[in-house]
Amino acid sequence: MTRTVYVNGEYLPENEAKVSIFDRGFLFADAVYEVTSVLDGKLIDFEGHAVRLERSLNELDMPSPCTKDELLEIHRKLVELNGIEEGLVYLQVSRGSDGDRDFVFPSADTPPSLVLFTQNKPGLADSPAAKKGAKIISIEDIRWGRRDIKTVQLLYPSMGKMMAKKAGCDDAWLIEDGHVTEGTSNNAYYVKNGKIVTRPLSNDILHGITRAAVLRLAEEAQMEIEERLFTIDEAKEADEAFTTSASAFVMPVVEIDGVALGDGTPGPIAKRLREIYLEESRKKAV
Ligand code: PLP
Repeated sequence: MTRTVYVNGEYLPENEAKVSIFDRGFLFADAVYEVTSVLDGKLIDFEGHAVRLERSLNELDMPSPCTKDELLEIHRKLVELNGIEEGLVYLQVSRGSDGDRDFVFPSADTPPSLVLFTQNKPGLADSPAAKKGAKIISIEDIRWGRRDIKTVQLLYPSMGKMMAKKAGCDDAWLIEDGHVTEGTSNNAYYVKNGKIVTRPLSNDILHGITRAAVLRLAEEAQMEIEERLFTIDEAKEADEAFTTSASAFVMPVVEIDGVALGDGTPGPIAKRLREIYLEESRKKAV
């Protein structure tokens, strides 16, 4: 089925939607993005994604393409037009184009480019992958120093996923100065003796919207949380581990670099947090 997508004010069939070859997102990865999940035809944590988008734009001196209310309207309309019950809405804002290639930013009044499309993912919540748990490898983190800004510079994370795939695994965790930063497209946690350990927020990791929600819910459920740097060896000795992201919610991790965690199946805390997160998110969905 041909999707209806949104490009700079227009709703179009996907094969008719176009952006300029001079668009700075295309030439310089000068663009930021958000991915919002959809459950029961409703948006999960739209507010969090909208706030983070605004922050990413501000950090890069990129103008905002529209208001938060307009963004919500576009998201909702795309979900409706494409009949999405479970899936994702991808949004990208680039610095646009003044019709040529130049390292210097175009003048501040150059309109940014706004693109959104949906991805239909039936069974996103009741995912077989989450029941099995993910196997991960660890690789060196060689990304740039502003990972808190959600830019489209995703070549290395994409290469990391390919390295994991080649090794017969599902994903990679990234290591910098001996400590785990995060996953290729998710935040990383391990659990030992009931305590959840995860890296604190800084410019080194993306400030996950799912991370914020899951940590709040864990606290409300009286779970113990420690935000600190941790090594991959600590994680390998954990009782269980998991990742969080808007597209996979809470994903149990069952193996790290070939070492099985616990009994090699999804751990109770990861499973419980996934349940609570899905339940609470559905209640607050817009
Ligand atoms: N870390 C990275 C590097 C990511 O790319 C993502 C999501 O794409 C996340 C963490 C998780 O963020 P969120 O929970 O907002 O999806």
